[in-house]
Amino acid sequence: MTAAPLVAGGPGLAQRRHLATAIPGPASQDLIARKGAAVAAGVGHTAPVSAVAAGGGVVIDADGNSLIDLGSGIAVTGVGNSHPAVVEAVAAQAAQFTHTCFMVSPYEGYVAVCEELNRLTPGDHEKRSALFNSGAEAVENAIKIARHATGRQAVVAFDHAYHGRTNLTMALTAKAMPYKSGFGPFAPEVYRAPVSYPLHDGLSGPDAAARAISMIEKQVGASQLAAVIIEPVLGEGGFIVPAPGFLPAIADWCRANGVVFIADEIQTGFARTGAMFACEHDGVVPDLITTAKGIAGGLPLAAVTGRAEIMDAVHTGGLGGTYGGNPIACAAALAAMRVYEEEGLVERASAIGRLIAERFASVDDPRIGEVRGRGAMMAVEFVDPATGAPDPATASAVAKASIAQGVIVLTCGTYGNVIRFLPPLTIGDELLAEGLDVVVAALEDAR
Ligand SMILES: *Cc1c(COP(=O)(O)O)cnc(C)c1O
Repeated sequence: MTAAPLVAGGPGLAQRRHLATAIPGPASQDLIARKGAAVAAGVGHTAPVSAVAAGGGVVIDADGNSLIDLGSGIAVTGVGNSHPAVVEAVAAQAAQFTHTCFMVSPYEGYVAVCEELNRLTPGDHEKRSALFNSGAEAVENAIKIARHATGRQAVVAFDHAYHGRTNLTMALTAKAMPYKSGFGPFAPEVYRAPVSYPLHDGLSGPDAAARAISMIEKQVGASQLAAVIIEPVLGEGGFIVPAPGFLPAIADWCRANGVVFIADEIQTGFARTGAMFACEHDGVVPDLITTAKGIAGGLPLAAVTGRAEIMDAVHTGGLGGTYGGNPIACAAALAAMRVYEEEGLVERASAIGRLIAERFASVDDPRIGEVRGRGAMMAVEFVDPATGAPDPATASAVAKASIAQGVIVLTCGTYGNVIRFLPPLTIGDELLAEGLDVVVAALEDAR
C-alpha cells in the first residue's frame, strides 16, 4: 500500500495548478502498475494519476500534484467534487439507512427525487419517473417503456450516437472502437438514421431532418417504430450540435406518428449546456428523458422521466432493480439538484461556455475545424487543413500534453479528432483561463 497524503476534498482545496512531480509521479506510477496487475485490461484510463482528493476545479493526486479538472469525471461533478451539501446529505443518509430496496420498503428520498425530476424536466404535463443505477440502464428502461406503451419494437438511433455499453445500448451506440468491437451480436430492431452535423453535411436543420425522416419511413416504417432516441447535443460522438430546427422537426414527426421521442440527456442534463436540460435550447419537449451523470454530485443514479400515460403503461413490477434509487444516491441527488438552482449554475455554465469560445476565437490555427458546443459543454474539432479530413493525432497529442502539464482534458468524436471541455460548473474564471492557456500551448507545440 502506498500511503496517500491525507487531504480533505471539496471547494476548500487550494484552487491552483501545481506540479510537485512529473506526471505521473512515483505514487501514481505505483498505482498504475498495481492497476495493470489487478484490474482487467479492458478498463482504460485517461490521466495516469492516483487521485486522492478533488473539489472546485482541481484534482489532487497522491504525489501532491494539483491538476485543473476540465472533465468533471465525464460531466458528472457539475456541482463540483465533494460539494459540502452533497457530503452532508450522504453522511446523514448513510447513518440513517443504506438500503432497503425501494421495491421492498419504499422511502421518501426516492419519491422526492422523482418529484424534483418531474418538476425540473421540460414540459408541464403530468409526469412520472423511475430510478436506476447507470445511464445505460436508464436508456434500456426508456426503450422497454416505449415498446410496452406503443406495442411496437423498432428503435431509431442516430449516427455518432452514444447511449451506453450494455447489450441494447451498444446496439444504439454508433462507434465500434472501443465500445462495440468484438462484443456482438447486438440487440435487434435497432436502426440508424443520419443526424444533423453542420460542419460536415452543410444541411439546414429542416433539410437534415427531412433526410432522416425519409430514411426512417422507407427503411423502418412509422407503424413499426416504438421510439426515436437522440442526444440533443451528441456527446461521445463529438459534441455535435444539430442545426436549428432539426430536433423540433424530428420531435414533431414522432408526435404525428405515435412514436415516443426520447431525449438522452445523460451528458447534457443538469445545467451543463446553459439550460437545465439541453432540449430547452430547441424548444423541444420530449416524451421521455433519460438522465444520469450530473444528477447526484458523483453518486451513481439514473432516471427515466416522462409523460404519465407512457410511463404508467408498464404493469406493476415490470420496472425496477435491487439498487435503483439507492437512498444515499437519492440524498446526494436532492442536494445536488438544490445546488444547481441555488448557486445559479445554469447561468454559470453559459458564462463558462463564453469564456471557452472567446479563448479559442483568438487562436488562429488552420487545424481547428470548428469550436462548438453549448454552455460548459464545448469542443474543438481538429481537421487536416489541406483536406478537411479528421485529425485525431492532434487531438490526442493536445490531450496528452495538457495532462502532462496538469490539466485534465478529454477527447471524443467518432474519429477521435475532438477535444472536449466539461469543467465543473464551480470552477473559477482564473483557473479555467489557466487551464485553457495550457491546452492552447499544447496545441502550438503539437506540430
Ligand atoms: C455516459 C452516457 C450514457 C451511459 O451512461 P453510463 O452511466 O456510463 O451507463 C448514455 N448516454 C449518454 C448520452 C451518455 O453520455
